[in-house]
Amino acid sequence: MQVLFRVAHWVSNGNRKIVKTIRQLAETEENYRVIIREIDRVEAALGRARTLGAEARLTLVEWLVTLEDFGWQCAYCQSKPFQVMIHVVPLPKGGTVPENCLPTCYACVRYRKKEYMQVRVQGYLASRKYENGSTRTHGGVSHIPQFQEDKK
Ligand SMILES: [Zn+2]
Repeated sequence: MQVLFRVAHWVSNGNRKIVKTIRQLAETEENYRVIIREIDRVEAALGRARTLGAEARLTLVEWLVTLEDFGWQCAYCQSKPFQVMIHVVPLPKGGTVPENCLPTCYACVRYRKKEYMQVRVQGYLASRKYENGSTRTHGGVSHIPQFQEDKK
């Protein structure tokens, strides 16, 4: 995944639209598809936040840090690959910011209001709040609480 961060930093430096170079930096077609998908995802979320007058400052690098921290799995069940980005506090009350955006699977989007699921992610989100995500280029999973007992 280091390749993805390299591309993400490059994109964050304002080079985002040069598809050919992104493709070269990404090295493989699979990396390229992943990075383009996440660029689009972050930009779509930022656009929606701006439209609604919400805070909009999530960077691609910060989003990749979050994805790495959860192993590209759903932040709630941590057992399925993530499928969508959610805003834990919905827009426009919450913003498109590192401490409010999580990867989830479709099933957990539907059930995330359950309290044990909220508890699962609050510590993580709090830890993102005061950190400068742009200085951290890959995740440590040590601070993610494990809630194996919740698995059904
Ligand atoms: Zn899930």
